[in-house]
Amino acid sequence: MHRRITGKLVIATHNPGKLAEMRELLTPHGVEAVSAGELGLGEPDETGKTFHANARIKAVAAARAAQLPAFADDSGLAVDALDGAPGIYSARWAGNPADFTVAMTRIERLLQERGATMPAQRKAHFVSALCVAWPDDHLEEVEARADGTLVWPPRGSAGFGYDPMFLPDGHSRTFGEMTSVEKHGLPPLGLGLSHRARAFVKLAEICL
Ligand code: IMP
Repeated sequence: MHRRITGKLVIATHNPGKLAEMRELLTPHGVEAVSAGELGLGEPDETGKTFHANARIKAVAAARAAQLPAFADDSGLAVDALDGAPGIYSARWAGNPADFTVAMTRIERLLQERGATMPAQRKAHFVSALCVAWPDDHLEEVEARADGTLVWPPRGSAGFGYDPMFLPDGHSRTFGEMTSVEKHGLPPLGLGLSHRARAFVKLAEICL
Protein backbone atom coordinates (compact mmCIF):
# COMPACT_ATOMS: atom_id res chain seq x y z
CA MET A 1 0.00 0.00 0.00
CA HIS A 2 1.32 3.43 -0.92
CA ARG A 3 1.46 6.00 1.83
CA ARG A 4 0.50 9.67 1.44
CA ILE A 5 2.71 12.52 2.66
CA THR A 6 0.89 14.60 5.26
CA GLY A 7 2.25 17.30 7.58
CA LYS A 8 5.88 18.31 7.72
CA LEU A 9 8.48 16.77 5.37
CA VAL A 10 12.27 16.92 5.71
CA ILE A 11 14.16 17.52 2.46
CA ALA A 12 17.25 15.39 2.98
CA THR A 13 19.80 17.37 1.02
CA HIS A 14 22.61 19.80 1.70
CA ASN A 15 22.87 20.75 -2.00
CA PRO A 16 21.40 24.29 -2.40
CA GLY A 17 20.55 23.76 -6.10
CA LYS A 18 18.62 20.57 -5.39
CA LEU A 19 16.98 22.04 -2.30
CA ALA A 20 15.60 24.97 -4.33
CA GLU A 21 14.23 22.62 -7.01
CA MET A 22 12.71 20.19 -4.51
CA ARG A 23 11.01 23.06 -2.64
CA GLU A 24 9.62 24.38 -5.93
CA LEU A 25 8.24 20.96 -6.80
CA LEU A 26 6.63 20.46 -3.37
CA THR A 27 5.18 23.94 -2.82
CA PRO A 28 2.16 23.56 -5.18
CA HIS A 29 1.16 20.47 -3.20
CA GLY A 30 0.97 22.46 0.04
CA VAL A 31 3.69 20.38 1.72
CA GLU A 32 5.49 22.10 4.58
CA ALA A 33 9.15 21.35 3.84
CA VAL A 34 12.13 21.87 6.12
CA SER A 35 15.67 21.08 4.97
CA ALA A 36 18.17 18.74 6.62
CA GLY A 37 20.53 21.71 6.87
CA GLU A 38 17.96 23.82 8.74
CA LEU A 39 17.45 20.96 11.22
CA GLY A 40 21.22 20.59 11.68
CA LEU A 41 21.16 16.97 10.49
CA GLY A 42 24.44 15.40 9.36
CA GLU A 43 25.14 14.03 5.89
CA PRO A 44 25.38 10.23 5.77
CA ASP A 45 28.09 8.60 3.62
CA GLU A 46 26.69 7.71 0.21
CA THR A 47 28.04 4.18 0.15
CA GLY A 48 25.42 2.73 -2.25
CA LYS A 49 26.32 1.44 -5.71
CA THR A 50 23.15 2.81 -7.36
CA PHE A 51 21.20 6.09 -7.37
CA HIS A 52 18.33 4.22 -5.81
CA ALA A 53 20.49 2.89 -2.92
CA ASN A 54 21.98 6.30 -2.17
CA ALA A 55 18.57 8.04 -2.18
CA ARG A 56 17.38 5.45 0.31
CA ILE A 57 20.44 5.95 2.59
CA LYS A 58 19.83 9.73 2.72
CA ALA A 59 16.05 9.52 3.25
CA VAL A 60 16.24 6.82 5.94
CA ALA A 61 18.99 8.63 7.88
CA ALA A 62 17.05 11.91 7.88
CA ALA A 63 13.71 10.27 8.79
CA ARG A 64 15.27 8.46 11.75
CA ALA A 65 17.16 11.52 12.97
CA ALA A 66 14.25 13.97 12.62
CA GLN A 67 11.43 11.50 13.44
CA LEU A 68 9.58 12.92 10.44
CA PRO A 69 9.01 11.68 6.88
CA ALA A 70 12.04 12.61 4.77
CA PHE A 71 12.44 13.10 1.02
CA ALA A 72 15.78 12.49 -0.74
CA ASP A 73 17.00 12.63 -4.32
CA ASP A 74 20.08 10.93 -5.62
CA SER A 75 20.91 12.01 -9.09
CA GLY A 76 23.66 12.37 -11.61
CA LEU A 77 24.76 12.46 -15.20
CA ALA A 78 25.54 9.28 -17.15
CA VAL A 79 27.51 9.75 -20.38
CA ASP A 80 27.11 6.92 -22.93
CA ALA A 81 30.62 7.24 -24.43
CA LEU A 82 32.11 7.12 -20.91
CA ASP A 83 30.30 3.89 -19.99
CA GLY A 84 27.87 5.79 -17.76
CA ALA A 85 30.44 7.92 -15.89
CA PRO A 86 30.35 10.08 -13.84
CA GLY A 87 27.04 8.45 -12.77
CA ILE A 88 26.74 8.11 -8.99
CA TYR A 89 30.05 10.00 -8.71
CA SER A 90 28.68 13.15 -10.44
CA ALA A 91 29.01 15.33 -7.33
CA ARG A 92 32.50 13.96 -6.54
CA TRP A 93 33.86 14.84 -9.99
CA ALA A 94 33.39 18.50 -9.06
CA GLY A 95 35.74 18.19 -6.06
CA ASN A 96 35.43 19.93 -2.71
CA PRO A 97 34.56 22.79 -2.76
CA ALA A 98 32.47 21.89 -5.81
CA ASP A 99 33.56 23.40 -9.12
CA PHE A 100 31.45 22.16 -12.03
CA THR A 101 33.62 23.90 -14.60
CA VAL A 102 36.29 21.40 -13.55
CA ALA A 103 33.85 18.46 -13.81
CA MET A 104 32.46 19.55 -17.20
CA THR A 105 35.98 20.13 -18.56
CA ARG A 106 36.98 16.63 -17.44
CA ILE A 107 34.00 15.13 -19.31
CA GLU A 108 34.83 17.14 -22.42
CA ARG A 109 38.50 16.08 -22.31
CA LEU A 110 37.49 12.41 -22.04
CA LEU A 111 35.01 12.81 -24.92
CA GLN A 112 37.70 14.43 -27.08
CA GLU A 113 40.14 11.63 -26.21
CA ARG A 114 37.55 9.15 -27.51
CA GLY A 115 36.96 11.22 -30.66
CA ALA A 116 33.36 11.91 -29.60
CA THR A 117 32.84 15.12 -31.54
CA MET A 118 29.54 14.44 -33.35
CA PRO A 119 26.26 14.94 -31.41
CA ALA A 120 25.31 11.26 -31.86
CA GLN A 121 28.51 10.26 -30.03
CA ARG A 122 27.77 12.66 -27.15
CA LYS A 123 24.52 11.24 -25.79
CA ALA A 124 23.96 11.41 -22.02
CA HIS A 125 21.14 11.21 -19.54
CA PHE A 126 20.41 12.58 -16.11
CA VAL A 127 18.90 10.19 -13.58
CA SER A 128 16.90 11.08 -10.48
CA ALA A 129 16.04 8.47 -7.88
CA LEU A 130 13.60 9.76 -5.26
CA CYS A 131 12.91 8.13 -1.93
CA VAL A 132 10.51 9.13 0.83
CA ALA A 133 11.22 7.35 4.12
CA TRP A 134 9.11 7.42 7.27
CA PRO A 135 10.47 6.98 10.82
CA ASP A 136 8.90 3.48 10.92
CA ASP A 137 11.00 2.57 7.82
CA HIS A 138 8.10 2.63 5.34
CA LEU A 139 9.53 3.62 1.91
CA GLU A 140 8.18 5.01 -1.34
CA GLU A 141 10.65 5.02 -4.26
CA VAL A 142 10.61 6.15 -7.91
CA GLU A 143 13.20 6.84 -10.60
CA ALA A 144 13.22 8.74 -13.91
CA ARG A 145 15.68 9.99 -16.53
CA ALA A 146 16.05 12.85 -19.01
CA ASP A 147 17.88 12.16 -22.27
CA GLY A 148 20.02 14.64 -24.15
CA THR A 149 23.31 15.53 -25.83
CA LEU A 150 26.38 17.20 -24.35
CA VAL A 151 27.46 20.49 -25.92
CA TRP A 152 30.76 22.35 -25.69
CA PRO A 153 31.38 25.07 -24.64
CA PRO A 154 28.81 25.09 -21.81
CA ARG A 155 25.87 27.46 -22.37
CA GLY A 156 23.89 29.47 -19.82
CA SER A 157 24.25 30.24 -16.16
CA ALA A 158 20.89 29.09 -14.81
CA GLY A 159 20.40 25.88 -12.86
CA PHE A 160 23.33 24.07 -11.29
CA GLY A 161 25.85 21.28 -11.75
CA TYR A 162 26.14 19.99 -15.33
CA ASP A 163 23.12 21.99 -16.62
CA PRO A 164 25.08 24.28 -19.01
CA MET A 165 26.44 21.27 -20.92
CA PHE A 166 23.16 19.35 -21.23
CA LEU A 167 20.90 19.88 -24.22
CA PRO A 168 17.69 17.93 -23.60
CA ASP A 169 16.33 16.00 -26.60
CA GLY A 170 13.87 18.03 -28.67
CA HIS A 171 15.10 21.39 -27.35
CA SER A 172 17.50 24.03 -28.67
CA ARG A 173 18.56 25.44 -25.29
CA THR A 174 20.57 23.73 -22.56
CA PHE A 175 19.20 23.29 -19.04
CA GLY A 176 21.62 26.11 -18.14
CA GLU A 177 19.74 28.43 -20.52
CA MET A 178 16.28 27.54 -19.19
CA THR A 179 14.31 29.00 -16.31
CA SER A 180 13.57 26.45 -13.61
CA VAL A 181 9.92 26.39 -14.75
CA GLU A 182 11.04 25.41 -18.27
CA LYS A 183 13.57 22.90 -16.94
CA HIS A 184 10.88 21.15 -14.89
CA GLY A 185 8.38 21.29 -17.78
CA LEU A 186 5.56 20.39 -15.43
CA PRO A 187 1.80 20.62 -16.07
CA PRO A 188 0.08 22.74 -17.34
CA LEU A 189 3.09 23.46 -19.62
CA GLY A 190 4.28 19.87 -20.03
CA LEU A 191 4.42 16.42 -18.50
CA GLY A 192 7.88 16.78 -16.94
CA LEU A 193 11.16 17.54 -18.71
CA SER A 194 13.98 17.22 -16.19
CA HIS A 195 14.78 13.87 -14.60
CA ARG A 196 13.83 15.25 -11.17
CA ALA A 197 10.50 16.65 -12.39
CA ARG A 198 9.66 13.38 -14.15
CA ALA A 199 10.45 11.36 -11.06
CA PHE A 200 8.46 13.84 -9.00
CA VAL A 201 5.40 13.42 -11.22
CA LYS A 202 5.56 9.66 -10.50
CA LEU A 203 5.98 10.27 -6.78
CA ALA A 204 3.13 12.79 -6.67
CA GLU A 205 0.82 10.19 -8.22
CA ILE A 206 1.40 7.77 -5.36
CA CYS A 207 2.18 10.02 -2.36
CA LEU A 208 0.65 13.49 -2.76
P1 IMP B 1 24.10 13.71 -5.33
O1 IMP B 1 22.75 13.23 -5.78
O2 IMP B 1 24.02 14.55 -4.11
O3 IMP B 1 25.09 12.59 -5.27
O4 IMP B 1 24.63 14.73 -6.42
C1 IMP B 1 24.26 14.62 -7.75
C2 IMP B 1 25.11 15.51 -8.61
O5 IMP B 1 24.65 15.27 -9.96
C3 IMP B 1 24.91 16.99 -8.39
O6 IMP B 1 25.84 17.54 -7.54
C4 IMP B 1 25.11 17.54 -9.80
O7 IMP B 1 26.46 17.57 -10.06
C5 IMP B 1 24.55 16.45 -10.69
N1 IMP B 1 23.16 16.74 -11.00
C6 IMP B 1 22.06 16.12 -10.49
N2 IMP B 1 20.94 16.69 -10.97
C7 IMP B 1 21.35 17.69 -11.76
C8 IMP B 1 20.61 18.65 -12.52
O8 IMP B 1 19.38 18.74 -12.53
N3 IMP B 1 21.37 19.50 -13.22
C9 IMP B 1 22.73 19.47 -13.23
N4 IMP B 1 23.44 18.62 -12.52
C10 IMP B 1 22.75 17.72 -11.80
